[in-house]
Amino acid sequence: MERSLETRVSQAVDAWLRWLPRWEPATHRGRRSPCRRCFGSPILEAAGIDHDTPHGVQHGLSTRIKTIIDQSVARYTSQNLPMLQSELDQQSARNRARSYRPREDLDPEFDGLPLDPEPDPGAPFLFTIAEFEEEAAQETPPLPPLSEEAKRALRREVALADEYAAEVGHEVCHLLVTHRPRIRAAVSEYVDPQIEAMMKELTTSLDAPFDPRDLGK
Ligand SMILES: [Zn+2]
Repeated sequence: MERSLETRVSQAVDAWLRWLPRWEPATHRGRRSPCRRCFGSPILEAAGIDHDTPHGVQHGLSTRIKTIIDQSVARYTSQNLPMLQSELDQQSARNRARSYRPREDLDPEFDGLPLDPEPDPGAPFLFTIAEFEEEAAQETPPLPPLSEEAKRALRREVALADEYAAEVGHEVCHLLVTHRPRIRAAVSEYVDPQIEAMMKELTTSLDAPFDPRDLGK
């Protein structure tokens, strides 16, 4: 495992801490389905923000940490897993050939989220970004089929990459625990007061559901 993992985790937490003061509660309706990256994430558990922390705050951190794991796995793959690397190279060549690539260059706060908002029942979308993306994917011809032997070899390499990812993930979570105090402190400073203010506003509006001056009109 590369020596710089500790530094990279520390830098990712630094970057998230620099971003956090700009966080604001979402005013739009929440999503119904849980985020696949954040729900039950061991990263968020290690960071100490798996409970009672708004998803936007969690997502900004889980994405930054996931990037470290992805980059480590990519390096391991390029050095040790030639079949998988060649598959990935072909896949990225295909991706580059597409005319529409809505997932590229997203900020960590938006990366990995569904491209379109939740549809509103009764108000269907005329088009969705996901549909455009799928159309663009069909422009490129399919990859040539693999022999059975090549498929087996590829599956072995995929399993090795998975094992390595689990190992790095475990190490990253271990390192993240040491940053828990400053993560928690920042949430208390920048997030909790905003949540409290929102709750207070909600309680006030529930106590006074109508304006008394409207009475008798
Ligand atoms: Zn998320």
